[in-house]
Amino acid sequence: MTSMVKWEEGDTAMRKIIVAKIVFSLSFVCFLLFSFGTRFAEADTAHIKIAWLQYPADWNCDEPGARVNLQTNPLKPSDWDIEWNTIDVQTASEEDFLQYGLIVISGHSSYSFTPEENGKLKHFLDNRGTIWVDNCGGLQLSNFILSVEFSNYEVQYMGQDIIVPNHPLIDGVYTLSSAEVNALGEGATGNSNLIVDKDPSYKELIREHATGEPLTLTYESTTGRIVITAQDVLCAIESVETEDLKFAYNVIGWSMVPFLQAAISPVSATIIIGQSILFSSSVSGGFPPYSYQWYLNNNPVSGATASSWAFTPTSTGNYYICLNVTDAQDTSAQTQVAQITVIITPVGGYSISTTYKATTDPSVLYLATFVTLTLFCVNIRRKTTKRTN
Ligand SMILES: [Zn+2]
Repeated sequence: MTSMVKWEEGDTAMRKIIVAKIVFSLSFVCFLLFSFGTRFAEADTAHIKIAWLQYPADWNCDEPGARVNLQTNPLKPSDWDIEWNTIDVQTASEEDFLQYGLIVISGHSSYSFTPEENGKLKHFLDNRGTIWVDNCGGLQLSNFILSVEFSNYEVQYMGQDIIVPNHPLIDGVYTLSSAEVNALGEGATGNSNLIVDKDPSYKELIREHATGEPLTLTYESTTGRIVITAQDVLCAIESVETEDLKFAYNVIGWSMVPFLQAAISPVSATIIIGQSILFSSSVSGGFPPYSYQWYLNNNPVSGATASSWAFTPTSTGNYYICLNVTDAQDTSAQTQVAQITVIITPVGGYSISTTYKATTDPSVLYLATFVTLTLFCVNIRRKTTKRTN
């Protein structure tokens, strides 16, 4: 702790050291909690709760066959303990939905969710839920969270192209070869339905080769995920087709990946003009590696694309700083906005200025102490973050 020795030279050294010790102790406790928490999570068997969505149409066309095979197939990771239930969209509450990490929807028919039902699904999606819609052939869902429309006719199976090969649904729990992707679903028997219209928020993951139309879509945000498969993957699982089982385990694994979250520190501070303030960030979840862009007053700062950023204001006033983090799957998270107030102090510290009476006020000394401590905290946090990586 060589940095603390330097501080003994100042008038408020004792106060700084006491506060610094408290800050350090708290940081250390946080570090211990974080690291042990992570280890316990890794050691435990994953208990996964999945629900099949019950709605007033043929919701159970692939149930229980696909579910039983997913439970019993030896490809299921040995440390997964999967609990399957059904959930009735008409009678279940928003809270009931939040018990689950993954909701599976399948069918052959047309169904229009009521606004209330749509609200429950949306609430689930906004609270770290993952939804998998698998078209068993002829499915049309209306008033679903993000619109998706399947073709009404059967298409001739002509092969499937992978658009995002590193996506966790292709390269996750299992890595699917292009031959395996090509064989996904019941397409080979002519049941495959194309996706003919979609909300622009979806991204294409797999495309039909002959027509260039999407067969599999994903939606990913910092709070929820959706995968749409037009290939009737669940019926193929009823037929115990290996590539479809692997894909389904990738869907379950994807639903378990913590969502992207980002925060910056400090979130507020007052500094004296000419000083710098160092912002650090902490990012978790999503799919590393992450890329960074710092914003000052809503504008991207040129070259500020690292995990930390030193801001050196050249004029007084209030500044608003935030960070945008993007993960390897193009999901972005924006942090809270930090407010920095920049004030003037005369050169030389304690000389009395007629213009700025406030500089003689002891509160300025307090502010200086606060800034020093803030920078110290940032350093501690950065060290802690490095140690846990
Ligand atoms: Zn099916």
